[in-house]
Amino acid sequence: MKVSREAYAKINLFLSVGDKRPDGFHDILSVMHAVSLSDTVTLEVEKAPERTISLKSDGDVPTGPSNLAWRACEAFLRYAGIDDCKVDIRLEKRIPVAGGLAGGSTDAAATLVLLNSFFGDVLPLPDLLNLGAGLGSDVPFCILGGTVLARGRGEKLTPITPAGKYHFLIANGGASVSTAEAYRALDGARDGEAQTEVFPDPLIRALKDGAPIDEYLFNSFEEVILPSHPEASRAHELIRASGGTPLLSGSGPSVFGVFDDLSNRDRTKKILEKENYLVCECESV
Ligand code: ATP
Repeated sequence: MKVSREAYAKINLFLSVGDKRPDGFHDILSVMHAVSLSDTVTLEVEKAPERTISLKSDGDVPTGPSNLAWRACEAFLRYAGIDDCKVDIRLEKRIPVAGGLAGGSTDAAATLVLLNSFFGDVLPLPDLLNLGAGLGSDVPFCILGGTVLARGRGEKLTPITPAGKYHFLIANGGASVSTAEAYRALDGARDGEAQTEVFPDPLIRALKDGAPIDEYLFNSFEEVILPSHPEASRAHELIRASGGTPLLSGSGPSVFGVFDDLSNRDRTKKILEKENYLVCECESV
């Protein structure tokens, strides 16, 4: 039997990285927001004498056991004690890889949700979220979707209900950034200095009121990623110059813009495409 689901990309409307904790992780405060740019995850599940997984993808991602969707499938079947089935995973990738858009995490989340529903909701939501957290820190958000305030290492999630939808443009210049490297760069730049905390409360209020969010967008990684990634800072500049409000997404290097005016967004898309960016128009989901 075949089941399929859209796996939505994530942008961070707000991402404040706090001090490094004794356990080596950083506390973060983040507002994560799912957008309509998506991969499609399809699973074909059949009875089989033993647990077998295979994966095909049209994108530049691993197709073996290191793919996050494969890992999610394996983790789910093991946790749920299901060992008599064969799962063929097919990924149609549209989310730029390693772009700060949680592409792998959302494929893993969609795989978990599809399998859980296929097997009659064997796992309650908290178990599914825990299983997701073991695969990657963005996976629990991708299971919930929508808009969420994330605290702690990113594992404490509080859903937010925005009153409206927002229009975005995401520009990716082709480079990739490893999240671990981005944290190291931030630690290096801060050189042990304690950080003044920035809070997302005004942004959350604006989201709940359906008001413009432009002036409340924030990302701690911009100070280290924009100077070292000219294609990200150029996209930032072009989006601002044409009337949108730009922000680095996650640890980058994708940059998104929020636009009130859709004709302005179309115009900006053309400008960015002329400079060879991969550009995706998307909305809140
Ligand atoms: P995040 O925003 O969560 O840090 P990202 O969007 O920057 O993630 P991904 O697209 O998830 O990054 O890719 C990160 C790495 O994961 C890449 O090296 C990629 O090869 C690997 N990967 C494994 N499985 C997948 C998948 N299903 N889709 C995309 N990347 C995957």
